[in-house]
Amino acid sequence: MRYFSTRNKDAGVSFATAALSGLAPDGGLFVPEEIPLYSGAIKNSLGRMGFCDIAFETIKPFVKSEIPEAALEDMVHSAYPFSAPLVSVGDRLVLELFHGPTAAFKDFGARFMARAFSYLRRGEDKPLKILVATSGDTGGAVADGFFGVEGISVTVLYPRGRVSPLQERQIAGLGGNISALAVEGSFDDCQRLVKAALGDENLRKRLTLSSANSINVSRLIPQAVYYAAAAGKAFAGKTDPDGEATPRVKGGSQGNGATDYGIRTGQALTFCVPSGNFGNLTAGLYAMKMGAPIRGFIAATNVNKTVPDYLESGNYEARLSQATISNAMDVGAPSNFERMAAHFSWDEMKRIIRGVSVSDGETQETIKAVYRDCGYFLDPHSAVGWNAADKLIKQSLTGKGAALGAVALGAVAPLAILSTAHPAKFAETVEPLTAPPPVPPSLARTMERKVESRTIPADVSAFLEVL
Ligand SMILES: *Cc1c(COP(=O)(O)O)cnc(C)c1O
Repeated sequence: MRYFSTRNKDAGVSFATAALSGLAPDGGLFVPEEIPLYSGAIKNSLGRMGFCDIAFETIKPFVKSEIPEAALEDMVHSAYPFSAPLVSVGDRLVLELFHGPTAAFKDFGARFMARAFSYLRRGEDKPLKILVATSGDTGGAVADGFFGVEGISVTVLYPRGRVSPLQERQIAGLGGNISALAVEGSFDDCQRLVKAALGDENLRKRLTLSSANSINVSRLIPQAVYYAAAAGKAFAGKTDPDGEATPRVKGGSQGNGATDYGIRTGQALTFCVPSGNFGNLTAGLYAMKMGAPIRGFIAATNVNKTVPDYLESGNYEARLSQATISNAMDVGAPSNFERMAAHFSWDEMKRIIRGVSVSDGETQETIKAVYRDCGYFLDPHSAVGWNAADKLIKQSLTGKGAALGAVALGAVAPLAILSTAHPAKFAETVEPLTAPPPVPPSLARTMERKVESRTIPADVSAFLEVL
């Protein structure tokens, strides 16, 4: 498979080059020359296959000829000792993506990426240094994914005092090949420092540098896996029992069980995706194109509604981001939009995606209501998704549903809301609205780590000196 820049369809590169360089030299994002199709046999058995087998079959055509099957098999098994349960909550389905070590969906991309980097650089003796700027979740997932990987070191930059105590321990509590820099500034400052270092000629002579932000194609592709797995399961009329870390009140109410939007054998699933940079939703579009039984998507955002506005008007206008309680989605210029637009026209996007924006007040009300009615804890990001689905369902019940197009949420459309983080990760927001959410063992262990980071001013020369 060749990969092209979204800004230049002429010069293709290998998967290795696309993954290891991250961004294309012209500033574009790498996209595969075509999106492969699942064979009929795979499509028919998605509902019966294990998560790692679906991961293997999904990723294989994207890396064919560069990663042999046996190596890929090992990679997916070591990356995914956890999976993504599709559980019933009230009359909805929730796809829980927080069962990995850092309790957010970014583990799915980062853990595969780390193993792919390690394989693609085998035999290389010059060490690789990965620079990551984070507002919270990405840094933890990348640090955890690359922890202990030989020949690769990671430097994470985060805004000092602006990440939660738990996130700081995920970023700065590992040690070893992971170092953490607390920058006296904002997330934008962190990003600016990383960009400056990546472009520094002198530094590049000494070190092989790379970045691991969410536009990397090796983080994107593995995210298609959980969509295919969930859609296949739902199509086969199955859901999972609650996972080990599922944040439900034990013995609590399961809701009224009216399954209008629950499981229905033989029907394609609609996914509601809480979105910021739109990497997650783009991966869903890939799974749909590959042939997984998916009907469409709801793009749920907080007040940073650049994409919902685009879907409405056809005009794409990036803006400055506004701070919200679902802060991993505070993105005014979503970087993966360029990739979506490379694959789909506005008309095509409108047919498969409905955009909905949700306020902080609505998010808080939803966290309260779902806890009260179903005994289930939602984190603020997943609550944005739940509320967006509520809004569309209400519209379709009051007759405005005609406007829903192909993503119609009629009374017979199964709907899965992606839960992108465990509520205990955002306990400071969730707990006052509910009760203390149960803490999964991996997060409890993380809280015991000691933070070891170095504070630097938001200044390029200070950063280069550290490197
Ligand atoms: C990163 C993140 C998102 C946004 O995902 P995108 O792929 O950037 O759209 C949503 N929720 C949580 C918890 C996240 O960490």
